[in-house]
Amino acid sequence: MLVDRFNRRITNLRISVTDRCNLSCFYCHKEGQFCNTGIEMSPEEISEIAKAFRELGVKKVKITGGEPLLRRDIVEIVEMLPEFDEVSMTTNGILLDKYAFDLKDAGLSRVNISLDSLNPSKYKNLTGGEFKKVISGIETAVQAELTPIKLNMVVMKGINDDEVQEMIEFTSRFNRRGINVILQIIELLKLPNLEDYYFDIGLIENEVAKKAEDFRVRAMHHRRQYYLNGTAVEFVRPMDNTEFCYNCNRIRVTTDGKIKACLLRDDNLIDVKGLRGEELKKKIFEAVGLREPYFSGGD
Ligand code: SAM
Repeated sequence: MLVDRFNRRITNLRISVTDRCNLSCFYCHKEGQFCNTGIEMSPEEISEIAKAFRELGVKKVKITGGEPLLRRDIVEIVEMLPEFDEVSMTTNGILLDKYAFDLKDAGLSRVNISLDSLNPSKYKNLTGGEFKKVISGIETAVQAELTPIKLNMVVMKGINDDEVQEMIEFTSRFNRRGINVILQIIELLKLPNLEDYYFDIGLIENEVAKKAEDFRVRAMHHRRQYYLNGTAVEFVRPMDNTEFCYNCNRIRVTTDGKIKACLLRDDNLIDVKGLRGEELKKKIFEAVGLREPYFSGGD
């Protein structure tokens, strides 16, 4: 079992499989990998790392990027993962039409799909992508039963902060069809140059909380999930949030095979690319030993 110095048990693994992307979202945090190395791990290397974490008690794995569906061998990558309680992927959805069914057959449990706007021209301006391809990708994911699907909406001041209600309604329509779709309202990480777009999603949360018939607190980051007429709306608020950090049970692996203890730090990476067995596990324990809450409430 992996437990860090702050008594946080590591149960979730997030592996980036590429830093290439087919969109150009100006706000992208790139999973904390700001220098593209051009190095990608092979399916075998990814599988070896996932296996070691699985044997050490990690329950869920998420494949991310860049855009994971740009990897031509993405189905093989998923197929070669060991069995976890959940294997998920976060994607912009543009290529889901092509891959959803094969990914399901390969063992993918569910997807998160990024969707910041329901306005096609705004979506195009924000991301450079075609809105109708994402919508079609969502429908294909529904048909392939990659559910529950989570729609990820990053809220940005003056850009899409007025679209939350519409997004809740869009999500509810799936639930009324009996399809489990959850809306994740995500706070913008204040990277340099993004301060002007920061929007306090606590304001949205207060409004949703008033109307909700029920709510629960998830173990992961103590995220709050509210139910509106049966539709779940979850809030992801990492900024300056000590509660978020003290309940973080996630660890990351970068595209070039380095264990990353925290999204917001890259000064304590541990290289594990190509390692196997006990040597790999030793490095995993070393990386876990370096974990500390980014927002700790101290000075
Ligand atoms: N391309 C995939 C996708 O679109 O989901 C995976 C990579 S993307 C970096 C993963 C998630 O990070 C997306 O849901 C995206 O909305 C979120 N994200 C990107 N930049 C962010 C930022 N500055 N603040 C908060 N979330 C962000």
